[in-house]
Amino acid sequence: MDVRDLQSINLASIIKEPGSAQADGVIRDEIIAGDDHLPLQGDTRWSVTVSSAGDEYWLSGEVHGTVMMECRRCLKPTPQRVDAYFQHLLEYHPGIEQLTLVEGEDGEDVYHFGEPDLDLSFFIAQAFALAMPYTALCDESCKGLCPVCGADLNTTDCGHVPQADIGGALADLGRFLDEV
Ligand SMILES: [Zn+2]
Ligand SMILES: [Zn+2]
Repeated sequence: MDVRDLQSINLASIIKEPGSAQADGVIRDEIIAGDDHLPLQGDTRWSVTVSSAGDEYWLSGEVHGTVMMECRRCLKPTPQRVDAYFQHLLEYHPGIEQLTLVEGEDGEDVYHFGEPDLDLSFFIAQAFALAMPYTALCDESCKGLCPVCGADLNTTDCGHVPQADIGGALADLGRFLDEV
């Protein structure tokens, strides 16, 4: 299979003549979204189509993969499926050095780009990060970490009192203090 590591699409042909362009590829290891490095499991596949729309270009794409997130209870790396779809309006302004978000006349977001070879990594990473769940759970029945010693209660019985019983123990202590 032909695998492209580069996240870009060349729009030279549709800048010259109306039409559409298509590109796809595979991302491995991680997606970098701003300051976040999102670790991936297996191949993450993306595809993008850009079509001329008058003076503008309509970009639509999708990205599908599996991101590793920490279980919110036990912190174990937990795979989470991500399916993201994105659409953006673009305008070509030769000479612009980097992708710039501009508000259009009708208040819509338009991205200005200055090179026919359009870098897609920003669009892909943004859509992927937005489609991720806020938190992950390795299993509905995950017991989490012991609040006393930090042991993984799914695999270890460290013998510490479960949190739910601490309230009862404190009530007993209170009664005891009242009686003294
Ligand atoms: Zn867990
Ligand atoms: Zn413990």
